[in-house]
Amino acid sequence: MSTIYNFSAGPAVLPKSVLEQARDEMVDWHGTGMSIMEMSHRGKDFTAIAHQAEADLRELLAIPENYKVLFLQGGATAQFAMVPMNLLRGKAGADYIDTGIWSDKAIKEARRYAQVNVAASSADHAYTYAPGQTAWQLDSNAAYVHYTPNETIGGVEFHWTPEVGNVPLVADMSSNVLSKPIDVSRFGVIYAGAQKNIGPAGLTIAIVREDLMGEAMPRTPTLYDYKVQADNGSMYNTPPTYAIYIAGLVFQLLKREGGLAAMEQRNIAKAKLLYDYLDASDFYHNPVAPENRSRMNVPFTLSNPALDAAFLQGAQQQGLLQLKGHALVGGMRASIYNAMPLEGVQALVNYMQDFVKKQG
Ligand SMILES: *Cc1c(COP(=O)(O)O)cnc(C)c1O
Repeated sequence: MSTIYNFSAGPAVLPKSVLEQARDEMVDWHGTGMSIMEMSHRGKDFTAIAHQAEADLRELLAIPENYKVLFLQGGATAQFAMVPMNLLRGKAGADYIDTGIWSDKAIKEARRYAQVNVAASSADHAYTYAPGQTAWQLDSNAAYVHYTPNETIGGVEFHWTPEVGNVPLVADMSSNVLSKPIDVSRFGVIYAGAQKNIGPAGLTIAIVREDLMGEAMPRTPTLYDYKVQADNGSMYNTPPTYAIYIAGLVFQLLKREGGLAAMEQRNIAKAKLLYDYLDASDFYHNPVAPENRSRMNVPFTLSNPALDAAFLQGAQQQGLLQLKGHALVGGMRASIYNAMPLEGVQALVNYMQDFVKKQG
């Protein structure tokens, strides 16, 4: 099989070494004669795997003691409901920052439970920038402030952490978690679906400050109550065991590779390579304000959209896969998560150059 590079936004590329280890261990995990998939989630083997995964994630992100790490299901989309259900705590409303399609979805879901104040929005410029802090009209009475640090579809990323005083800050980090070090203590809740920068679909990670738990709305489904999940070690019911195992392998790899500071340096270099080329080219265009460009998801358009299909077909032939942009925005999108090597981005840039030459 020749080398391929998978630029999918999610489910996304996983480190080859992790897939190979999982393959080697799939049928008989560590001499038990069983696959992880067949083991009781409460047995000693899987319990050890889950504990190690949590410990490694805590180490990578330097998660303080007063935060719980939850291994959940339902994707980031379930968090769109769980956040208001758990965090309103008797208050009526919450602040939301609207920077793209994902924050808009979070807002729409939150409106079912809360009065949503859209404290800032970049809809006025087709979601191509992140509104600066001075533009935020926060309500000091809000139960929490929700934002999307990386808009996976628009390719807009906050390279700073908002300052929201004593109001808990909630972040949907689905597509940039583990891409760089962060100060967890600045957040009330961080959540992320695993299938972008962590592991397989089916696992959702929530990091929740302890004092924010225990006041879920009446009639919150049992599984949607952070406190129930925390009190039961994310095993109130059967957790996504195999996805937790794979995520654990990814955490161990990240640790071996130097942790999140090393990841950040690699991600900066990858993104720079691609953006520098886009900026130097008259043929390709990225619409995002330079200071808000995502290091993880790089949307771009061709100056002649009639060539989109030929571009994608040629890319496919070169082993550059899943570059088609999101249906809502069109064009192309290269997702270059942690598991995408620099060589993959270089191969993409080489192909883009060749494609322009061919057009003459
Ligand atoms: C992919 C994504 C979602 C939706 O995730 P699901 O796991 O499919 O629910 C939400 N927010 C962001 C930022 C995403 O990238």
